[in-house]
Amino acid sequence: MRILILSDIHANFDALQAVLSDAGQVDSVWCLGDLVGYGPDPNEVIELIRMQPFLVCLMGNHDAAVLGQLDLESFNRDAQLSAEWTRTVLKEENKKFLETLAEKRVIESVTLSHGSPRNPIWEYLLDLSTVTLNFDHFLTPYCFVGHTHIPIHYQYTNNGHVNWSIPQSGQPVQLPIRSILNPGSVGQPRDRDPRSSYAIFDPDAKTWELHRVSYDPKPVQKRILEAGLPRRHAYRLDEGW
Ligand code: ZN
Repeated sequence: MRILILSDIHANFDALQAVLSDAGQVDSVWCLGDLVGYGPDPNEVIELIRMQPFLVCLMGNHDAAVLGQLDLESFNRDAQLSAEWTRTVLKEENKKFLETLAEKRVIESVTLSHGSPRNPIWEYLLDLSTVTLNFDHFLTPYCFVGHTHIPIHYQYTNNGHVNWSIPQSGQPVQLPIRSILNPGSVGQPRDRDPRSSYAIFDPDAKTWELHRVSYDPKPVQKRILEAGLPRRHAYRLDEGW
């Protein structure tokens, strides 16, 4: 079974198309939130995501902000401008779709949340002490998160310590007893690799395979500038930060 794991598309339609075409046939698509924000294509991204087979989609902090469910004061200025712009262009039916998204889901062996299992919308899993505490906040063997835009695998060891590793593209990882995994970001990678990032999860074989795929960011950058969105959201796509 092949489940496509996506996160942080951030209204980047070209990156999403590149990922879907690179992933090929899949049995299900699980999206870990932040469909919108930063990028120029919120409607196109939501409409393409809604068409995916056996879709499971969560709410991210940018989705919540666009819906007015999160105070924009908690965002930096550029992210606020993006959220405000997205509100002005988002079609009613796509807004309604965002409103249906759950903050957290449990599907068989996996807990899904955008930020962390402890605080699904807002907490960043960036340091080992925070990650270690979060292993107490889900009961399934695995937890998949997004939010940091950095692909990583945290493994809980027998002696209660947490190790981390960065999966290599195209190399399947056999999952240990308990893991927290992040597939990286489709639309705005931040690990200095501008290629889109996603993963394929096989719940039967218990494997996780990270993939990176190149796309041409220039048309996306052009649309960001034409929309009057902050210029840095265009430039960062060249370098992946
Ligand atoms: Zn994000």
